[in-house]
Amino acid sequence: MRKNIVAGNWKMHKTLTESQALTTEIRGVIRDEFRSNNAEIIICPTNLAIASISKLVEGSGIKVGAQNCHFETQGAFTGEVSATMLVAAGATHVIIGHSERRQYFNENNELLSKKKKASLAAGLTVLYCVGETLQERESDTHWGIIEAQITEGLAGLNSSDMERMIIAYEPVWAIGTGKTASADQAQEVHAFIRNLLDTRFGAAIAENVSILYGGSVKPDNAKELFAMKDIDGGLIGGASLKARDFFDIVQAFA
Ligand code: PEP
Repeated sequence: MRKNIVAGNWKMHKTLTESQALTTEIRGVIRDEFRSNNAEIIICPTNLAIASISKLVEGSGIKVGAQNCHFETQGAFTGEVSATMLVAAGATHVIIGHSERRQYFNENNELLSKKKKASLAAGLTVLYCVGETLQERESDTHWGIIEAQITEGLAGLNSSDMERMIIAYEPVWAIGTGKTASADQAQEVHAFIRNLLDTRFGAAIAENVSILYGGSVKPDNAKELFAMKDIDGGLIGGASLKARDFFDIVQAFA
């Protein structure tokens, strides 16, 4: 059975102290008001806060993820952090291939495939992001782009790797812009991705992989999006920085 998942990507926001405060607030509303155990909750703070926040969420069921990692376990890679280090700090998940990493740090499908392998080998669950730009959508080339992101990005992985793989479809034109893909537009792409997974890994795996939607998800549109057959939750940017909004999105599953 695939899981419903709501993951918050805090990006380069919040100092350690601010991250601790937000976590305590999220933990508080979840303890007081959570009406459903229908959704897994993941928060992805700055690397500097992972160790501390992993302790703060103990016993709450909230999982902690990183936003990126290097593909080597250690070595002369100044400024980088390995998947092994993230696990040692308490992370259970890592986001790989966010469009901001693809766009600003030139990460391509081949590199992302290496990062995924390293993350899985370290024991992390991977949230792998795919999605097209506005220009790709408008020129109707987005199907090919997404297909390449899935097939090249998942190259070399086997069925058991896919048990620790979550896909996030995030149209770049909808990230942080306030423009959301309509529920039908998102569903169409999610079904396409599930079909690609079916072709590559078989029906059982395709059915079990959670596919999240990301791109301006807010409390007032989450329910409609999450109600779609192939949308299993959301990767949330801006709205995950406010405990109440993030929680109200989680409650779309209640
Ligand atoms: C994201 O960055 O993954 C994201 C979906 O951002 P936002 O919710 O702010 O559009």
